[in-house]
Amino acid sequence: MICNAKINEIKSGNSTFNRICTFDSAYTLTMKVTDHLKASKSTLFSIEILPPLKGKSITSIYEGIDPLMEFKPSFVDVTYHREEYVYKKRDGGYLEKVSIRKRPGTVGICAAIMNRYHIDAVPHIICGGFTKEETESALIDLQFLGIENVLLLRGDAIKTESAFVPEPNGHNYAIDLVKQVVEMNKGLYLHEDVVDMAPTHFCVGVAGYPEKHFEAPNLYADMQFLKAKVDAGADYIVTQMFFDNQKFFEFKSKCKEAGINVPIIPGLKILTSKKQILALPKLFHIDVPQDLFVEVEKCKDDKEVRELGIRWCIQQSKELVKAGVPCLHFYTMGTSETTRRVASEVF
Ligand code: FAD
Repeated sequence: MICNAKINEIKSGNSTFNRICTFDSAYTLTMKVTDHLKASKSTLFSIEILPPLKGKSITSIYEGIDPLMEFKPSFVDVTYHREEYVYKKRDGGYLEKVSIRKRPGTVGICAAIMNRYHIDAVPHIICGGFTKEETESALIDLQFLGIENVLLLRGDAIKTESAFVPEPNGHNYAIDLVKQVVEMNKGLYLHEDVVDMAPTHFCVGVAGYPEKHFEAPNLYADMQFLKAKVDAGADYIVTQMFFDNQKFFEFKSKCKEAGINVPIIPGLKILTSKKQILALPKLFHIDVPQDLFVEVEKCKDDKEVRELGIRWCIQQSKELVKAGVPCLHFYTMGTSETTRRVASEVF
């Protein structure tokens, strides 16, 4: 029923919109992120969520998405969290190195979201921890599930390593992942002896950093690497969070100068606690603007910081919408209430 309603809704729109939809089953309808952007005349709303901690139920995911459904998210990104290594003390006092994944389930959550809400889910796929063969198998699984959007990333170094180390026969940089997906979209899989392979249809997103990726020697070099990802076939860019819109506007101009013409989606995070003022720059290598820092310092407690964070994000969002950004992408980090408050003022 829901699917039929959606089909009618789409049929009433223009024919391009109709053509770009893929019907994967009686109940699932998928659209590429870029087609969502093309089909809309106004700024879209999208969110990013984290899988729950291992052992927790998927209910927490639904509880996070349900309150945001009234704003019709065009797509939901689900982050990928690779394994970490910890040392466990065993009988006899020796230490065993154990691999753990604290937040498994990215692909399952994407399938569950598409099934439950009939909105597009975008799994994040990373280089770290994957051989090329494993990446190929993961992409085949996604294709079978009717998931045709991916955000391709390198991933960070694991905590026990000082720099990113790819798997043997894995990818070094996100661009290598982009190239692999683009090859699969042409029907070219890894092993040459396989012929007549069905092409995949992935829409590819990549990350961009308005304040520079922390490993890049300078913004110019980072921009060249971003351009290379786009030239290799990335369809759109989602940015790292930023609290100063000026940084985003400058980044957009630099992209234009560099010849990057794909849509650029700003990523927004709502500040919710005093400790984030120190933690976010450390974790994400971004600046907190002086004005925001001064205002946070004046807050008595986290409740006040949260209200300030909401006001700040509303102001950021309204300015970005006015500037004509294609979509506002909210890093919900598992809490929907603050995003709901911002969205209700903006959409
Ligand atoms: P790349 O594009 O590969 O760039 C990495 C660094 O290498 C940059 O400094 C770049 O300038 C440089 N570089 C690129 N190409 C070359 C080259 N040929 N030679 C030399 N240097 C080069 N991480 C996760 O683990 N899971 C997630 O779900 C996740 N989601 C994210 C979502 C968004 C929107 C963003 C912005 C980041 C996300 N991350 C995630 C973090 C991301 O994995 C890290 O920021 C990582 O350090 C870089 O990833 P990238 O895809 O930008 O890497």
